[in-house]
Amino acid sequence: MKCYIITKGRSSYEKNLGEKRMIEHHDLKFIDEDHDRQRCINQAMANAEQLCQRRGQRFTALRRRVFELVWCHHKPIGAYDLLEKLQRDGRTAPPTVYRALDFLLELGLIHRITSLNAYVGCSHPEDLHDGQFLICTACRSYAELNVESISTAIDDSARDSGFAVQRHTVEIMGLCPRCQDKQVTS
Ligand SMILES: [Zn+2]
Ligand SMILES: [Zn+2]
Repeated sequence: MKCYIITKGRSSYEKNLGEKRMIEHHDLKFIDEDHDRQRCINQAMANAEQLCQRRGQRFTALRRRVFELVWCHHKPIGAYDLLEKLQRDGRTAPPTVYRALDFLLELGLIHRITSLNAYVGCSHPEDLHDGQFLICTACRSYAELNVESISTAIDDSARDSGFAVQRHTVEIMGLCPRCQDKQVTS
């Protein structure tokens, strides 16, 4: 099976900014449709299980199933689509599904893409962070950025305006490398 994952590496570098030491992570990854899905999902489930254990939380059957559906989809998925998929399993109560989503959000296993009213799996849930996303408007694939300097710039600018940030998500719309290629070749 062809595995086609575009990764611009994870380069960590530290900058000395006066007293402040900043570590910048740049993790840019678009996942192709025909990658090894089973391996991908197994890995994500194992990571999620471990994270729940470390935080002393229960990864119940419903939480597990909701996370699996969000992750498997590999594209932002709306609550309505999730409910529809869960109905096929015989689980229908929307409030319990929303509670499971809230739990996964709280733990950092998934993020909410507000502009699409949808959810995505987090590629590095170990450290709690605000999400920064590149979202392809053609195929809806996404890549999660985790650039510390973006968060810092937002927080600093907000503070300068006397604004207290509670959370922020950066959503950037555009075309992924594959869709750009398709445009060139078509
Ligand atoms: Zn994340
Ligand atoms: Zn695309």
